[in-house]
Amino acid sequence: MTSSYLRGDDISAPLRIHADRGAASVCLEWADGHVTVYDFEALRWLCPCAYCRGEAGSPGWLDSNPVLTSEQKRLVGLEPVGGYALCPTWGDGHHTGFYTYTALRAHCPCPACTAARSAAGR
Ligand SMILES: [Zn+2]
Ligand SMILES: [Zn+2]
Repeated sequence: MTSSYLRGDDISAPLRIHADRGAASVCLEWADGHVTVYDFEALRWLCPCAYCRGEAGSPGWLDSNPVLTSEQKRLVGLEPVGGYALCPTWGDGHHTGFYTYTALRAHCPCPACTAARSAAGR
């Protein structure tokens, strides 16, 4: 079974986005009924910005396997960007990561998506 998100197609914005600071998690409800929940720390590790991921072949900050401080794992804001992405702001002031909805769905940590990714060899 190949779902559209595994082919890398753009997927539309979630119907509902809810950041729960008490549970330290972000819940995304997709148009197809799927629900994706990231805990804040998992979301921080996915930061796609050039600082975290590196650019032009040089490693990024996250590649150095840093120990995240509680501030670096604390979500303080979550803004939609242009209908295709979310831009979180973290407790340490970091806010340069644009998480596309496609990437957020593709990295969905739920058991069904994790199983689908390993079946697809990713
Ligand atoms: Zn970053
Ligand atoms: Zn999932």
